[in-house]
Amino acid sequence: MKLIFLGPPGAGKGTQATGVSSNLRVPHISTGDMFRNAIKNQTPTGLEAKRYMDAGQLVPDSVVVAMVKERLAMDDCQNGYILDGFPRTVPQAEALDTIAKIDVVVDLDVADEELIARLSGRRVCLACGATYHVSRLNGETKCASCGEELIQRKDDSAETVLNRLNVYHEQTAPLVDYYQKKGNLKVIDGAQDMDTIFESILAVVKG
Ligand code: AMP
Repeated sequence: MKLIFLGPPGAGKGTQATGVSSNLRVPHISTGDMFRNAIKNQTPTGLEAKRYMDAGQLVPDSVVVAMVKERLAMDDCQNGYILDGFPRTVPQAEALDTIAKIDVVVDLDVADEELIARLSGRRVCLACGATYHVSRLNGETKCASCGEELIQRKDDSAETVLNRLNVYHEQTAPLVDYYQKKGNLKVIDGAQDMDTIFESILAVVKG
């Protein structure tokens, strides 16, 4: 089963992709996570990606497409995968069309005001990947899972969040139309609670 999770930043793609990936036993491929790892390991791709990410801009298509092609050629992807955060532009979607046939595109739909509240209040643990929202932390600054310090991702700062949303509307939202025309788009209301969203995704994916 080859799936794309589409939707604006903060829609919950990463959280849902993690759950659906273990349910379907296919790898969860997040280009954002791949870039963050590349930055941590100071690879040439990481160094190039960092300046775009910090500004809330998209990394150039050629860089992303090359990285994804290499990843999808690996053994664990041969029975399917969930793409989270890719494609993000029409040229990326066209490049993907040349290497894979996608079964279902899940579009998590959330209003901008809600996304701004979610993203600017998001705190993450870089050690284990857990994410939190300040409104539920009661002043706690350490990760409840592993005890490490929680941080705000640089690209979750208020100004960068607005940039990321603009970039989404200009460059990624056209993909909703792109996949609608192909006939494999399923829109899910991303404002619902997490469990309901999870069940709705499984229902449309397993059809
Ligand atoms: P994410 O964690 O998916 O929100 O991605 C974080 C950042 O990584 C984005 O704001 C972009 O700068 C970069 N990025 C991730 N995926 C892509 C992609 N498919 N195309 C271009 N840039 C990307």
